[in-house]
Amino acid sequence: MSNHSQIAQQALEQGKGILRLAPNWVPRSFCVPGRRIKLHPDDYYALGGERGGIDERWFSSTTPADNGPLTGEIEGLSEVVFDDNGTTRRILLREAVQELKGDLIGERIWKAHESWPMYSKFFDNKGALPHHVHHRDKHARLTGQNGKPEAYYFPPQVNNYGGDFPYTFFGLNPGTTKEQLMECLKNFTEGDNKITNLSRAQRLQPGTGWDVPPGLLHAPGSLCTYEPQKASDVFAMYQSLVGDAIVPEELLWKDTPEDRVGDYDFLIEVLDWELNVDGNLQEKCFMEPVPVESPEQMKAQGYIEKWICYKSEAFSAKELTVLPGQSVTVKDAAAYGMIMMQGHGTMGEWKIETPSLIRFGQLTHDEYFVSEQAAAGGVEIVNHSATDPIVMLKHFGPGNPDLNL
Ligand SMILES: [Zn+2]
Repeated sequence: MSNHSQIAQQALEQGKGILRLAPNWVPRSFCVPGRRIKLHPDDYYALGGERGGIDERWFSSTTPADNGPLTGEIEGLSEVVFDDNGTTRRILLREAVQELKGDLIGERIWKAHESWPMYSKFFDNKGALPHHVHHRDKHARLTGQNGKPEAYYFPPQVNNYGGDFPYTFFGLNPGTTKEQLMECLKNFTEGDNKITNLSRAQRLQPGTGWDVPPGLLHAPGSLCTYEPQKASDVFAMYQSLVGDAIVPEELLWKDTPEDRVGDYDFLIEVLDWELNVDGNLQEKCFMEPVPVESPEQMKAQGYIEKWICYKSEAFSAKELTVLPGQSVTVKDAAAYGMIMMQGHGTMGEWKIETPSLIRFGQLTHDEYFVSEQAAAGGVEIVNHSATDPIVMLKHFGPGNPDLNL
């Protein structure tokens, strides 16, 4: 047995099917941190000014961050933490998945993907992002990538403060013509290309979310966002000026195949045009949480569980609340990662808690990965507080068998 294989097996046994993960902080050189993800105030620039501020924490990630030549060796990759008789050992979740295969992520997902094909993150930006698009599979494949669906949920626990612009532009105004958009794209290097004049923004509400299918333009607002997504980093930026910051032209052509760089028709082909100009975009993409079962029945058992991201085939997410003083056993048909948002207690063999401040590099007991077998057998969660609920967010891979809305 290889060393990796041994550590992965021992970690899974020690956690009775639940792996503990280490906080996975990611800086972005083009972003200003919103400072809502519990990192110590001195640590938002822990990687140095040149790398930019830390405004993301990635969950259950087997996807490396694409942060240019200065990117750290395991940046973006989640680590499993394992206690070996008092010595803390670590192994990448990616390696654990390769070693444990279906025993961790379930045969269904292993056979189809031979990897864990999603991750989630907190995205915590003080300002708004430029109007951009994630390619659909057919366009992403031209550069050897996968298309990228993503979704947003705005957890109340990290959104007492909404940042500079808590509104998100989605799509284009119904009736917008391709000629109008073409003009904006051709003006990209002329300062403000005014693309958001062709769009409209939605006020973001804590406790709700949005689905963002690939091919849909979106300019994310500044709420702190829990963001499950397919494992891919494909995108192109169509807005040239956001707030006071100019967007470099190379980002307009990012992930355009070489032979089409400079061809504005390609940028328009990338868009799902019908969806972008759809007058019912809100109806299609807005997500009000939906109880998983009858709320009365769940409450009687001591918990409330809601679907928070449920419109994508590529992933789904739930918010689980365990009421004060309650012990519950919750079953899921699929493996999942989770992050604690509130409260403390135990989950299976593990302590779970919600630190209020985390130093860069410090370990926590707020993030885990639950194997399919453990999820299906039922995970026992005990809330040790008489007053404070436990609230956790759970992110699942593609085709969750429990998702039948
Ligand atoms: Zn996006």
